[in-house]
Amino acid sequence: MSHRVINFYAGPAGLPLPALERAQAELLDFENTGMSVMEISHRAKEYDAVHNEAIALVKELLAVPDNFKILLLQGGGNLQFAMLPMNILHSGRKADYIITGQWAKKAFKEAKIVAGDAARVIASTEEEKFARLPRKDEIKVNPDAAYVHFCSNNTIFGTQWKAFPETRGIPLASDMSSDFMWRPFDVKPFGLIYAGAQKNLGPSGLVVAIIRDDFLAMCSDKLPSMLQYKIHADKNSLYNTPPCLSIYILRNVLAYNKAIGGLDAIHKNNLKKGELLYGCIDKYPAFYKGHVKVKDDRSYMNVDFFLPNDEVTDMFVKESKAAGMVGLKGYRDLGGIRVSMYNAVTVDHIKTLVAFMEAFAKKHA
Ligand SMILES: *Cc1c(COP(=O)(O)O)cnc(C)c1O
Repeated sequence: MSHRVINFYAGPAGLPLPALERAQAELLDFENTGMSVMEISHRAKEYDAVHNEAIALVKELLAVPDNFKILLLQGGGNLQFAMLPMNILHSGRKADYIITGQWAKKAFKEAKIVAGDAARVIASTEEEKFARLPRKDEIKVNPDAAYVHFCSNNTIFGTQWKAFPETRGIPLASDMSSDFMWRPFDVKPFGLIYAGAQKNLGPSGLVVAIIRDDFLAMCSDKLPSMLQYKIHADKNSLYNTPPCLSIYILRNVLAYNKAIGGLDAIHKNNLKKGELLYGCIDKYPAFYKGHVKVKDDRSYMNVDFFLPNDEVTDMFVKESKAAGMVGLKGYRDLGGIRVSMYNAVTVDHIKTLVAFMEAFAKKHA
C-alpha cells in the first residue's frame, strides 16, 4: 500500500480510495483491450459503456426524471457561469442572482458580461462577509426571471442551502460544484444544475450538468457549437472528444457511491461528520470561532473557523500536517482554518481530526 494522507483540500480534493485503486488495477489493460482508457477511441464500445454508465449512475443515484438530460461538459464550473446566460438570456429574457459568496459573484459577473442589465442581483449577504445565507423574506424573485441562480454550497465562506430558494415555479439554476451528491435532493425545480467534478466527483475540468427539457428548449442555437447545451444533449456529450479518463474516474466514484448504499448512506455519513466537527467547535467557543453566524446555514462540506491568533493558527496547520492531515489552512482572504470534508472524507477521518482538535484546544486554550 502506498502512503496516503487525510486530505482536507478544498479542491481538487481527495477521491474515494477504492475508485482510485480500481483505476490503478485497470490502467494498463482496460476491459481486455490491451490499452488504457486514455488510448482508445471515444467511439469504441468499451469506452461507450463507461460513458453511458457514468450518465446512468447520475440518473439512478439522484433519481433524475426522464424529462432531464445529463451532460458531461468541459471548461469547469467557470465556463458554466457564462454558458448558462449565453444559452438562456436571449430574446429579451432576464435572470435573478442570489449572491452568497465568491463563486456566486463570479457567476453573476459572467452573466453581466453576457447579458448586461438583464442579469440582476436580488439578494446578497456580502456586507456580512457571507457569514449567513439570505433569509426567505430577503429574497424577492422577479416574476419575469427566466431563472434564479444560486450557489448551493459556499466553498469559501462555509454556508450551504439546506432548503433551496422558493421561486413560485421559476426554474432554479445552481452551481453545485462543492456539494453535488452530498445527499439526495429533488431535481424537479431546477432548469439547470452544474457541478465541476473536482470536489465530490472526480478530476478537475469535467462538469456534470443536468438540464430540464423545457429549459433546454429555451437554449440558443446561435452560439458556437461547443457552447450550445442543445448540441451536447443531442450528441449524448460526444460532440467532440470527451475527457475520457476523467469520465472514467467519475464512473468509478459513482459506482463506489452506489456500492456503499447510494446517497442516503452518503448523507448519513456527512451528517455524522458535521455533528462531530461542529460539536467540537461549539464545545470550545472561546478557542474555535466559526465563521458562519447562523447555525442552520453551516455547511457540511466546508467548515471555516478561527483560532485566537495567527501564531496558534500556523501551529495548528503545522501540527495537523505532522499528524497526517493536509489542506487545513484557510482560504487566503479569510484566514483561519478551513476543513473541506467532501464525500471522500470518512467519519473516521473526522474522528481523527476532532481528537487532534480536542488535544490542541486543551494544550493552547
Ligand atoms: C471549485 C468551485 C468552482 C470552480 O470551478 P472550476 O472552473 O472548475 O475551477 C466553481 N464553483 C464552486 C462553488 C466551486 O466550489
